[in-house]
Amino acid sequence: MYVSSRSYAQECDTRDELAEFREQFHLPLDASGNPVIYLCGNSLGLQPKITSQYIRKELDDWAKLGVEGHTDAAHPWMPYHEFLTNQMAEVVGAKPGEVVVMNTLTTNLHLLMVSFYQPTETRYKIVVESDAFPSDKYAVESQLKFHGHDPKDGLILWTPREGEEVCRFEDLEAIMQDQGNSIALLMIGDTNYYSGQHFPLKRITQLGHKNGCIVGFDLAHGAGNIQPDLHSSNADFAVWCSYKYLNSGPGSLGGLFVHERHAHNKELKRFTGWWGHNKETRFNMRHEFDPLPGAEGWQLSNPPILSMAAIRASLDVFAEAGMDRLRKKSKKLTGYLEFLLDELNDDRIRIITPRDPEQRGCQLSIQVKNADKSLHDQLTEAGVISDWREPDVIRVAPVPLYNSFEDVFEFVERFKKILG
Ligand SMILES: *Cc1c(COP(=O)(O)O)cnc(C)c1O
Repeated sequence: MYVSSRSYAQECDTRDELAEFREQFHLPLDASGNPVIYLCGNSLGLQPKITSQYIRKELDDWAKLGVEGHTDAAHPWMPYHEFLTNQMAEVVGAKPGEVVVMNTLTTNLHLLMVSFYQPTETRYKIVVESDAFPSDKYAVESQLKFHGHDPKDGLILWTPREGEEVCRFEDLEAIMQDQGNSIALLMIGDTNYYSGQHFPLKRITQLGHKNGCIVGFDLAHGAGNIQPDLHSSNADFAVWCSYKYLNSGPGSLGGLFVHERHAHNKELKRFTGWWGHNKETRFNMRHEFDPLPGAEGWQLSNPPILSMAAIRASLDVFAEAGMDRLRKKSKKLTGYLEFLLDELNDDRIRIITPRDPEQRGCQLSIQVKNADKSLHDQLTEAGVISDWREPDVIRVAPVPLYNSFEDVFEFVERFKKILG
């Protein structure tokens, strides 16, 4: 159904109803002033052109209003996070009360493990996928140690089989069969940052719950990429960041999800701060802590409005494009990349990301035999922004909001030339 030609790629772009969104982003330029082939939205998403207006508005309101901006800014700062909630909930498939934007990913992961990782003498182990992002692994290991457990014993890796790169569900079942009684938490990376494998959230949650475990997901590579359907997955909690597919700028705030069945549980242990306290009495400053129901109850501090303004801008772009349309284009775009790579018929390269579009987002991870980082450097030289993972994997992520079919075609042309 695909054709390997520039004219075909251009024709796909002409027929693409989301094509005009590319114009809404700043594309970095190469040395000769042409837009680079940017395939790195899995690491840092591009800047929407409206973002600077949204941030400038807050700066202006601060200049004009000072402290009064908390209540009198066009978007008052006091409840500012609420302006993000509905759209963010839509992006991750949650109910608004289950979602809040705050802190950063790893911080949120710790805060939620304070509540949802409650080890006992006999049930204390944590399962992560073996190629979990280092920060998640460090966070989980430190939680084990914090509770007096040795990660060598307490950390279980869900590992691909010998000679394979992606994890099999049966192997997680086997882990649960073997050790389910001693496992407190499944903490899985939803869409794996390395292989690009997207895990079945609902099945994993069912498996975990059946064995009496809490189930949490890291959607760093899922939010804005796949449609996670968090609420119906029934997961207990989830965390994500906003600077990858969500295009909200370097280090911008993260999001978290707490399933509504935990919304009113005041018995859950948690680390607290004034922003998680009942809004009615927050400023009396004298009351016993009274957590807000739902995800908001995990907030600690009054948040950085400039970061939230960038997130609001980005979410407005997402709302206009719509996740259904984005995901549909994404499958077609990544399918085209896969097709072109297969057409190269080069046995030095192997796509380690699952072939099934339902088991991946837009990213393809390409393993290149005997390659080293100089391959990535050559790509950069040729105006392709991709991402290198040791020892031999290039990750490329055509993002449906701003990448075109011609980008994909052009990437493969340049890649082919470099491979020689
Ligand atoms: C990007 C990423 C992070 C980054 O964590 P921060 O706290 O935002 O620095 C963590 N985990 C995963 C899976 C990621 O992909």
